Amino acid sequence: MTALTNLLDFDPEQLVAYCGELGEKPFRAKQLQRWIHVFGVNDFDAMTDLAKSLREKLKGRAMIAEPTVISDKTSEDGTRKWLLDVGQGNAIETVFIPEDDRGTLCVSTQAGCAVNCRFCSTGKQGFSRNLTTGEIISQLRMAEFALRKTKGIEAGPKGERQISNVVLMGMGEPLLNYDATVRALKLMLDDNAYGLSRRRVTVSTSGVVPMIDRLAQDCPVALAVSLHAPNDSLRNELVPLNRKHGLDDLMAACKRYLEYAPREAIMFEYCMLDGVNDTDKHARELITLVTARGRSVSSKFNLIPFNPYPESGLKRSSDARVRAFGKILLDAGFITTVRKTRGDDIDAACGQLAGEVQDRTRVQERTIRMAVNQQRSGHSVCSVEEELA
Ligand code: SF4
Repeated sequence: MTALTNLLDFDPEQLVAYCGELGEKPFRAKQLQRWIHVFGVNDFDAMTDLAKSLREKLKGRAMIAEPTVISDKTSEDGTRKWLLDVGQGNAIETVFIPEDDRGTLCVSTQAGCAVNCRFCSTGKQGFSRNLTTGEIISQLRMAEFALRKTKGIEAGPKGERQISNVVLMGMGEPLLNYDATVRALKLMLDDNAYGLSRRRVTVSTSGVVPMIDRLAQDCPVALAVSLHAPNDSLRNELVPLNRKHGLDDLMAACKRYLEYAPREAIMFEYCMLDGVNDTDKHARELITLVTARGRSVSSKFNLIPFNPYPESGLKRSSDARVRAFGKILLDAGFITTVRKTRGDDIDAACGQLAGEVQDRTRVQERTIRMAVNQQRSGHSVCSVEEELA
C-alpha cells in the first residue's frame, strides 16, 4: 500500500502541482487549500464544492495529518501554550500571546536546537530533528481554530481572525530548517490560507548568514536577530554559531536584507545577563556595532530580561540595569523595547520552551556538522514589548 501524502506539507505552488498530477486544474488546488487552511477541515467528504471524483481520488492518496495536542495550558495573563507530539518521543511547543491590539503566535521550527546558545534552555535539550512544513504550519492552523472555538467564533473567512502576528521564535533555528520554513511562510502569507502581511510575520535567527540572503530572495518577511553581545569574543561564548558567522558578516547580511525587508529596521534581540553583557560599555559598543561606517544597519532593540533556569549558571540583570542600558540606546536615537515576561506560570516565557527532546546527546558534534553543511536547520519566545520611555 502506498503511503498517503500529507497535504499540510505543500505550499501553494506545490499544491497546484499535486492537483495537476491528479489531472485537476489550478483553481481546484485553491479550493482545496481554502478548505484545509481557511476552514480548518480535515475530512475530504466535507469539502462540498470539490467534485465527488476528486474527493474520492484524495481519499485514496492523501491525508491531512496534524501533530496531536499533548497539553493545552492557559496562563493567568492569557498566554496559552500547547505541547504537541511530533512522534518518536519528540514534543514541540507553540505559544499564543494575546494583547489589546494583536494576537501573536510563537511557532517552533525544530524539535530541540543545535545552536546551543548559553542562556537558552531549548539549546540545552539538544537537537532532535527538523520539523516538516506540515508540522510548522499545523501550529498556526491548530492555534487559530482552537482559539476561535474557545471564543465561539466560526471558522472560515468571515470568522474573526485571532492570530494577527506570527514569530518564528519558538524551539529551533528556522534558517537551519530553511526549505520547510519557507514553505510554511508562503502558506502564512497566502490569501487562500492565512493571509498575513509580510510585516506581521517575523523570522528570528541567531545569524545563519547565507540563509539570511536566501530568505531576502525567497520570502522576505520581517527579520529579528538574536544578537545578545556587541563583540565577537563575547558572542562566540553566548551564541556558538558566531564562530562560523562573525559580527562583520552578520551586520553586512542585515544591511543587505533591509533592501528587501517589509520593515525599515532589523529588530535586534538582546538577552540581559547580569554582569555578562549588560554594562554601559556594552551598550555603547552595541551602538558602534550597528552604526559603523559603511555598514550601518537601521536597527531597533528588544531587551529581554533573562528567564533563569537552574543549569544555566546565569542571572537576570536587575530592572534598573535593564533601564539604564536601554536609556543609552534610546538616547542614541534607537527605538528600544523591553520584553515583558508572559506566561511564567506555565513555563511559556522566553527561553523556557524546552519541550521534550529524545536525543539529548552529541549536541556539539551536531552543531559543527550542521554549521559546516550549511543547509538546514531555532529560538526563544514571546514577543510582547514594552516601549522604553
Ligand atoms: S536561542 Fe534560539 S538558536 Fe539559540 S539555542 Fe535557543 S532556540 Fe537555538
